[in-house]
Amino acid sequence: MLDVTQALTEIRARVRPLEPTVTPLSPDVLGRVLATDVLADTDSPPFAKSLRDGYAVRAADCVPPQAVLAVVAEIAAGAVPTQPIHPGECVRIFTGAPLPEGADAVVMQENTQPLDGERVQITDPTVRPGQWVFPRGAEMRAGEVVLPAGTVITPVTLGVLASIGMTRVSLYDEPRVSIIATGNELVEAGGKLQPGQIYNSNGPLLTALATQAGGRVENLGIAPDNPADIRLLIEEEFDFADVLLLAGGVSVGKFDLVPGILEELGVAIHFRQVRMKPGKPLLFGTKDQTLVFGLPGNPVSVFVCFELFVRPTLRVLAGHTEPGPRTLMLPLAQALAETNDRPTYHPAKLEMGERGYSVRPLPWRGAPDLRGLQPADALLVLPPGEIRWDCGQLVQVVLV
Ligand code: AMP
Ligand code: MG
Repeated sequence: MLDVTQALTEIRARVRPLEPTVTPLSPDVLGRVLATDVLADTDSPPFAKSLRDGYAVRAADCVPPQAVLAVVAEIAAGAVPTQPIHPGECVRIFTGAPLPEGADAVVMQENTQPLDGERVQITDPTVRPGQWVFPRGAEMRAGEVVLPAGTVITPVTLGVLASIGMTRVSLYDEPRVSIIATGNELVEAGGKLQPGQIYNSNGPLLTALATQAGGRVENLGIAPDNPADIRLLIEEEFDFADVLLLAGGVSVGKFDLVPGILEELGVAIHFRQVRMKPGKPLLFGTKDQTLVFGLPGNPVSVFVCFELFVRPTLRVLAGHTEPGPRTLMLPLAQALAETNDRPTYHPAKLEMGERGYSVRPLPWRGAPDLRGLQPADALLVLPPGEIRWDCGQLVQVVLV
């Protein structure tokens, strides 16, 4: 049986970023990944601009105590200077306006004393060349790589792209994800439960997880445990799904039909079990460009397998260079004693204290206990065997 790291390696070896598409910029592309470098096509700022309301001056003219300059023009933001300034001259200027030729500094209006409409006294005792001036190209120069390929689109990225006048960029495509829940016992929320039935929580759970992870998701609903129905639903998906997620029916019971059907349909199955709890009967296969995950039916198994294996897969497809899972070491917020036969991923919650974060295991009743998982923002990684951990001990967690 593979361990988690080996299983991840098996999957990674078969995943490549999808093709890029030139895409218009909008908040819809938040979280997507640039496929090519973005270069600046102009200097930014495109002209030396004033950082203050005041006067644009030649610093050499402003020697105290008697610096009185002639005000020869006024320049607001959005206007352009029409004449250079000469020795003994200055212009009234406002934040964001271009400096006139000849000026090399700005004096804030708080450090000036207008004498009459035409002259101003500079009371700033030390005017340095460059003061309150944002030079042309200070932020970026034309031709420079502003955002390298692999950059994740954030609100600030969108701001930077707008600041250089871009309206579209090349982004890796979003993975197309198809989801099928299998099980005779399943009813969609909103329906009426008959004896022996339960609501389908995996469908909505996986739909939300895959959407949150940047997928374009098609939830195909429920397939009962009969080969013809399951086959029919799966078959069509190979034509366009990048990732097919099946929940339930992957274990070794009489009604666990999924592995056999996948084989019949020509899916190459790369593994059927992973040494972990919950989630041991995880299946991974491929057919053409479609990656197939058969997730064990218990909802917490679905979640743990998604976070450990499916989310990183979707992230690689979407062009992320750091696909995760994101793990780190944190101190335990309470002592913990347990015995497990496999590496166990226990729902846990991060707590912010005076000395930083610690992690607290949540009360949890195993693979079917989705409610116990609900407050979790981390999974505590418990090694197999007996553990007796003290409060404050450093432990491994996976952020979810
Ligand atoms: P299976 O992997 O099909 O043997 O299912 C394992 C357990 O998970 C059984 O108790 C199922 O009833 C339950 N289960 C399977 N699919 C779902 C689902 N879509 N929503 C909630 N529970 C499920
Ligand atoms: Mg089942």
